[in-house]
This record gives sequence, structure tokens and C-alpha cells, in this order.
Amino acid sequence: APARQRKPDWIRVKAPTSRAFGETRELMRSLKLNTVCEEAACPNIGECWTKKHATVMILGDVCTRACAFCNVKTGMPRAVDHDEPAHVAEAAAQMGLEHIVITSVDRDDLPDGGAGQFVKVIRELRARTPNTTIEILTPDFRGKMRAAVEAIVAAGPDVYNHNLETVPRLYPTIRPGARYYASLRLLEEVKAHNPMIFTKSGIMLGLGEERLEVHQVMDDMRSAGIDFLTMGQYLRPTPRHAEVKDFVTPQAFAAFGAIARAKGFLQVASSPLTRSSYHAGEDFVAMRAA
Ligand code: SF4
Ligand code: SF4
Repeated sequence: APARQRKPDWIRVKAPTSRAFGETRELMRSLKLNTVCEEAACPNIGECWTKKHATVMILGDVCTRACAFCNVKTGMPRAVDHDEPAHVAEAAAQMGLEHIVITSVDRDDLPDGGAGQFVKVIRELRARTPNTTIEILTPDFRGKMRAAVEAIVAAGPDVYNHNLETVPRLYPTIRPGARYYASLRLLEEVKAHNPMIFTKSGIMLGLGEERLEVHQVMDDMRSAGIDFLTMGQYLRPTPRHAEVKDFVTPQAFAAFGAIARAKGFLQVASSPLTRSSYHAGEDFVAMRAA
């Protein structure tokens, strides 16, 4: 395949130019916060930041894993920033967020995998912005999952998201540090500890998965009690990353979405530009109002 694959028309996105975009960037810089929007080179950054919706990435910008689809830097991370929880809450307060999404890099180097920092961020947010609903998107906490999930669930996020990313057959090449069933078990564990927390997961399409494999992932997710599903087109961040095998059409995304709804997910987002945090706030608020 060519090093630079031509994107279909439905992938093209507007350049970020609005004033609100610049303000969001300034706020993140001044509070020393990283965002997955920038680190993952997300195509929706213009739209999201204009609407003052950003996904904060805690625990640094260096990850101990190296997934084949991900643009985040790999290496030995720096020490945990103890001011970070207060800075996240400050950002949420200044932006007046109704809903916030917090994610992190994988911190296999930390004894608790970084779970303690998630707990502190949730507590700061509850204290500072009690009306903001909180969605967390966590790593798999490999080898320390039970303790991590127990601590985070006790802190009481509204939505617990953990992405399966792709079908199990593609794990060895796409998500080599992770195990499909371990990720499913994590989400099952969240529900077992507190059924009031909504669980959420997502996959990327276009990595070479088959249609029936996608249906199987949906069934596995429903068996694990997962409430919300996101599906979006995988885009190759650089030529060093996994190739795009197909550009799935908007119609095919809509068809997958219809199947997912029929399988009983409470909320489904399925379109080429869907990302796990795309429109997360609007969707969550709308679902709770319904
Ligand atoms: Fe950021 Fe998520 Fe929006 Fe992408 S979809 S710009 S990661 S908030
Ligand atoms: Fe990227 Fe997460 Fe994989 Fe780290 S674990 S490389 S942040 S997808």
C-alpha cells in the first residue's frame, strides 16, 4: 500500500481555526495538561475544541505500551504529577463542562498502574465541579486489574470506558500488550462492583476485521454487560503505524450501528469519525434525559 493512503471524502475534516479552539489550547498549556485530542492526532479536534470539549490524558504523555494504531509516544514515563488532579478540576471548572472524559497512558511501571491518580482526579472533580458527569477511559491495568477497578469504582465515575479496540484475531499485531478476554473481564468487573455505573467500549474498523467478527465482539460485549458502544474508522497516524486495510463506508457504519442497537446496547455511536470520546457529553446527557 502507498505510504500515504488517500482518504475518502467522508473523512476530510475542517482545519481548527476558531477562537474557542485557541482558548482550549491555551487553557491546557497553562494547566500543563495533555489531551488525547492532540496526542492521538484526532481528526475531530477542530470541532470538539470549538465546542470546548476535550479529553484530558493524565499520567503523562509517554506510554509503557506501543500499540500499532496509536500515536502516543512510547518509553519510560516521568514521575506522576501530584498537581494534576487539581489542574484537571480547574480545567473542568473554567470550561464549565457538563461532562468530562478523562483517559491516561498505560503505566505498567507504577505499582497500581495509575489507578490512584484516576481516583484523585475523580475526587477533585466531585469536590470542585459536582454537577459535571465524569467518564473515564482507562487502560487494562494488566496484572493489577482487580485492585485498580475496585478503587476506581469506589470513587464513583458515571461512565467507565475501556476500549477493546479490535477483534480478538488481530490482537497479536494491533494490541500486542493486551489480552482480549482480560479487557472484557475488566468491564464485567466494573458492573459486578457497581451496576449503577454505565460501562462503555469501542472498536476501530478498517484494520482487516471481518463483518462476523465484529458481530461476535458485540455479543461478547453484551455478555459482559457493556452498555455503550462506539465504532469508528481507524486512521493511520504515521507510516510507521498499522496500515488501513479498508475505509468502511458511512452506510456500512450505519448498518453496524443498527445491528448493535438490536443487540441491546443502550447507546451506540457508529460513523467514520466516531471516537470513544466524540460527542460523549451530548450523547450521555441525551440518554439520561430520555
Ligand atoms: Fe478529543 Fe475525543 Fe474530540 Fe477527538 S473526539 S478531539 S479525542 S474529544
Ligand atoms: Fe496508545 Fe493506550 Fe496503546 Fe499506550 S496503551 S500505546 S496510549 S493505545
